Amino acid sequence: MKPITEAYKDFPILNKTHNGNRVIYLDSGATAQIPQVVVDRLVEHMTQHNGNPHRGSHVLAVEASEAYENARDRVVEFINAREREEVIFTRNSTESMNLVAHCYGVNNVQEGDKILITVAEHHANLVTWQYVANKTGATLEYMYLDETGHLKDGEINKIDEHTKIVAFAHVSNVLGMEFPVKELIEKAHSVGAIVVLDGAQSTPHMKIDVQALDCDFFVFSGHKMCASQGIGVLYGKRALLEAMPPFLLGGDMIEYVKEQTTTFNELPYKFEAGTPNADGAVTLHAAIDYLESFGMEQIESYEEKLVAYILPKMLEIPHVRVLGSTNPKEKHGVIAFTVEDVHPHDVATIMDSKGICIRSGHHCAQPLGAFYNVAASSRLSMYLYTRKEDLDAFLDVLKTVRSVMG
Ligand code: PLP
Repeated sequence: MKPITEAYKDFPILNKTHNGNRVIYLDSGATAQIPQVVVDRLVEHMTQHNGNPHRGSHVLAVEASEAYENARDRVVEFINAREREEVIFTRNSTESMNLVAHCYGVNNVQEGDKILITVAEHHANLVTWQYVANKTGATLEYMYLDETGHLKDGEINKIDEHTKIVAFAHVSNVLGMEFPVKELIEKAHSVGAIVVLDGAQSTPHMKIDVQALDCDFFVFSGHKMCASQGIGVLYGKRALLEAMPPFLLGGDMIEYVKEQTTTFNELPYKFEAGTPNADGAVTLHAAIDYLESFGMEQIESYEEKLVAYILPKMLEIPHVRVLGSTNPKEKHGVIAFTVEDVHPHDVATIMDSKGICIRSGHHCAQPLGAFYNVAASSRLSMYLYTRKEDLDAFLDVLKTVRSVMG
């Protein structure tokens, strides 16, 4: 097997040039690039096994069903779910979160109850809870952070007997940091609240074990972990999923339909209405095989080394401010920053002129920006195909940003 330092060779897009420069992709937090093996598996599926899963007894329908269900089994193993009934395919983390909000949230909280999230949440894990609070009369409250991105002392005590749902990011897409997951989950369970963990930024980069975490729901997106866009996962504890009404209605999620009434299919199909994204599921299966060929622990420690390499160098550059912790050990491959007197979009445009792809904007976490008084920032985010020389190229341009702006 090749060393992880050569993983970049598996990604055809990294041979692309832009304005005469090699494309350097430092926006994996937005979406990850796709290795050739994943593309090959999709082509094989589309050219050999394409049919409508769960519909029909002909060879192609059967093979498509097998491919789709094998992908589910692979996800079950990857996140260590107890059983396949607990793994539901969705379009992405956002849809998974909406499923929980609409089917669990709306039906299980009421006036006087509290939904608690952190101020660092992605809008997918925030607007959804605003909706539930507005719909039910529950209150939506926030746990706040200190300057270094850690929960302020005592914030965890906001989890009290009124709290019914605690939802937070496993890893923040802006700060790149983990909250005290274990402590938050234990505290939530001690008052009878359920925990919704947003794994969009953690699942691609570290070993996930939903049983060890003991979260009640866990969401993630395939496209951030080398699969195609449009496939995501909702994990939920079986008893909770069983008790929830279906989300979308239509084919496949039914058991029996009469003119006026319907009984619903068993888990996980109850939550998968209509023709599923079997292509996406196949790519997710292939992506998991690819990532696990290196091992999630190795991916995590490789990214730790990259952060330890670049973060101190960024901090040495005058006028550069890094959001949240500046301790490399606390950042999971995501570094958001500002350059004094230069708009983040200008930073990203200057980078782009050299072929370097970074993100700029509010990163779908506007309340966090408002809390830190930073309406927008730039963000680099890495993955297993990121090289030290990519980071050197980024640093070289970062040093010139203020002078380029005159
Ligand atoms: N949660 C976090 C922490 C994210 O970073 C993202 C995407 O950037 C999402 C949720 C939403 O993911 P998706 O757009 O794939 O639904």
